[in-house]
Amino acid sequence: MNYIVLDMEWNQPWPGSPSSKKVLPVNIRGEIIQIGAVRINEEQFVEDEFQIMIKPKYYRHLNRRVSKLTGIKEAKLREEGVSFPEAIELFRRWCGEDIVFLTWGFDDIGILRENLRLFGLEEDWTERWFNAQMIFNAQTDGSTSQKALKTAMEMFSIEATRPAHDALGDAYHTALICAMLNLKQGMAEYGAALKSHDNGFHGAELPGCLDRKVFYDYADKRAALAAMSGEENLCPLCGSRMLGSRWFAQPGHRYMDLATCPEHGKFLIRVRLSTQPDETVRVSRLTYEATSEAAQAYARRAEKADPEDAVRPRRRRRRRSETPKAE
Ligand SMILES: [Zn+2]
Repeated sequence: MNYIVLDMEWNQPWPGSPSSKKVLPVNIRGEIIQIGAVRINEEQFVEDEFQIMIKPKYYRHLNRRVSKLTGIKEAKLREEGVSFPEAIELFRRWCGEDIVFLTWGFDDIGILRENLRLFGLEEDWTERWFNAQMIFNAQTDGSTSQKALKTAMEMFSIEATRPAHDALGDAYHTALICAMLNLKQGMAEYGAALKSHDNGFHGAELPGCLDRKVFYDYADKRAALAAMSGEENLCPLCGSRMLGSRWFAQPGHRYMDLATCPEHGKFLIRVRLSTQPDETVRVSRLTYEATSEAAQAYARRAEKADPEDAVRPRRRRRRRSETPKAE
């Protein structure tokens, strides 16, 4: 078996242009104009590279934003590009049999499949596929789901030696990251990683994590945080109501707070808020031991706290007019 690390660049019609009004037989998010791939063998050594340019058939004009990002010029595509079916034939021949695709993110494989469908080509050979970002997050302390390739490279001290936003360049850098992961384990645990991603947890939890839980359907951020420091703020050991101190905002809609159980002492609560398609707020909560490193980081933060950082949920006060009058 071989791993094929895949990256593609695709063209999109300029909003409002005649191309954007075209109705295609299959809906596509973009028309593929470049495929880059790197083969890694089972022992996780980088073996071989592939790159091809594709002349677009449906969105013939190169979106200037795409052109600027990828450095691909329309004239070059016309000169060097081959048709999509021809590119796929060459690509599949290069891939060989018994392959597993790895991509950085969820987009590439979906767009590949849409394009295959649009051209009436087989899709089943793309079946075995993993998002390497999920494996990376599961095996590192991935704090956000959409980690840029550049950030992941920095975390592994990989130097960029190829151009970014070039299909082969990105595939090559992704392959270097993949070579440093435990791919077998990552694939075996992929289902669990996906589920925790769906629940808003990204990456391995820090040591000392006691509990992770998801809460749904809060009207807004304030209501979500109020519940987290109120009725849902229960001791992970005895279940009694804990007292919170103050929420500190962290990047990525995350907040942390040190809560206290009268019986069991302090726990660090970390929450991440995300807005659902129906506008309600979902909370992903992690509870840590107070002796954990994460909790100590909170304590240091709280010590030198700038009051601006603290989020004080406004208490709902009864308005004067609601106050029952003494008779
Ligand atoms: Zn307790």
